[in-house]
Amino acid sequence: MADHDPAHLEAWRAEVRAWLATVAEPRTEEVFEWGVGDPRLQIFLAMSHDEEVAYLDRVREYRRKRFDAGYGAIALPEEYGGAGLPSVYAVAFADEEREFAVPPSSEIISVTTNLVGAAVSVFGTDEQRDRFARAFLRTDMLCCQLFSEPGAGSDLAGLTTKAVRDGDDWVISGQKIWSSNAQFSEYGFLLARTNPDVVKQAGITAFLVPMDASGVEVRPIRQMSGPSTFNEVFFDEVRVSDALRIGDVDAGWKVAQATLGFERSSSGSGHRRKGGTADDLVELARHLGVGGDPVVRQELADVYIRTRLHAAMVAKVARATASGDKPGPAGSLGKLLASDNLVRIGDCASHLLGMAMVADTGEWGEFAWTEHVLGAPGYRLAGGTDEIQRNIISERVLGLPAEQRVDKAPFSQLAKS
Ligand SMILES: Cc1cc2nc3c(=O)[nH]c(=O)nc-3n(C[C@H](O)[C@H](O)[C@H](O)COP(=O)(O)OP(=O)(O)OC[C@H]3O[C@@H](n4cnc5c(N)ncnc54)[C@H](O)[C@@H]3O)c2cc1C
Repeated sequence: MADHDPAHLEAWRAEVRAWLATVAEPRTEEVFEWGVGDPRLQIFLAMSHDEEVAYLDRVREYRRKRFDAGYGAIALPEEYGGAGLPSVYAVAFADEEREFAVPPSSEIISVTTNLVGAAVSVFGTDEQRDRFARAFLRTDMLCCQLFSEPGAGSDLAGLTTKAVRDGDDWVISGQKIWSSNAQFSEYGFLLARTNPDVVKQAGITAFLVPMDASGVEVRPIRQMSGPSTFNEVFFDEVRVSDALRIGDVDAGWKVAQATLGFERSSSGSGHRRKGGTADDLVELARHLGVGGDPVVRQELADVYIRTRLHAAMVAKVARATASGDKPGPAGSLGKLLASDNLVRIGDCASHLLGMAMVADTGEWGEFAWTEHVLGAPGYRLAGGTDEIQRNIISERVLGLPAEQRVDKAPFSQLAKS
């Protein structure tokens, strides 16, 4: 098959490069200079509502061009509206894209395109594909992920938001939480319990919910790092047409699992570095005149080694994805290393800055490090907590005994206990 041929891939890469050159400037090497420009050390972008809308508009303009050029859903099968190319093409696109100054993506863009757009393409009806999947993949509409609840995060299948059938509609009541960028979304991709009398995974159904429907209330949560990246979302007898159900009734767990799986095989877009790096720490140590201190040097070397280990793991996952493998437990190792490094980098910056970290003397870069330290714990939770990654590694990499499962009874009986 031509598209598995390395020569075909190289020719395709050249086409991608040529197309990218028509929509963006080549990315120039960023030279970090203490005291110059935006220190960009924060993990969660801090913007006003209007700034964030303008930011998203720039990304969406680019994503529409990308979709129209045929690069919107590279690895999605053609029958689902994608380009139907092997994953290696999606990885190659991300590589090429990193060389250009395209608008850096944000969480809601990747949730809308990589997760929800792909899920609706695969599990939706023809009508849903026409009406929604294309609009999500092209970012004409944004869709947040309404999975987590106050009592259902790591244990997602324990969710209690319920949907009750009423003629051609469903009536949804309950609460979601940590819904990233729900305040900018036209739709929400929601999991609800539709049958409590079966084991918890078996009674869940997926829906698209218009965020402006009567009974939906979005309340932004102010994070300790400053911005309101995520929200609580309340549903008070929200009426949703059965035409907005994605997949079969009570088959939502399969939809949810696949949706979370798309996250790993996504093609990526618009690189945005998250938080301060080991290089930023070295600059900080130099600026403070402590680069020769043996204890500081040891701490910096430790962070640097861990950063290189993470980079090696990312490269390994990318190679596996490119050759069509699922990332598997290596994805958990990468996530754990990334969140652990962010915390270690923040700890090291705190040691270097001392009291200035909390006193904030107003000097350039100081508060940016404070934002980093306050944002790092969130990253340890998002996308599966450190402990859950460790469980996966211990069970699936080290082959240790699995956690005891005590929740195999019908959900209604669990909820009562
Ligand atoms: C920045 C950010 C963005 C997010 N965006 C979204 C979003 O857009 N949509 C959405 O639906 N959700 C989102 N989430 C929610 C995220 O998926 C959950 O926070 C995550 O799944 C953890 O769930 P929880 O917060 O309920 O913690 P819990 O699951 O209650 O965990 C609490 C603590 O117990 C530990 N723990 C739980 N179970 C085990 C176990 N079996 N073994 C060992 N330790 C365990 C956890 O590691 C953690 O330390 C976001 C979270 C963050 C921080």
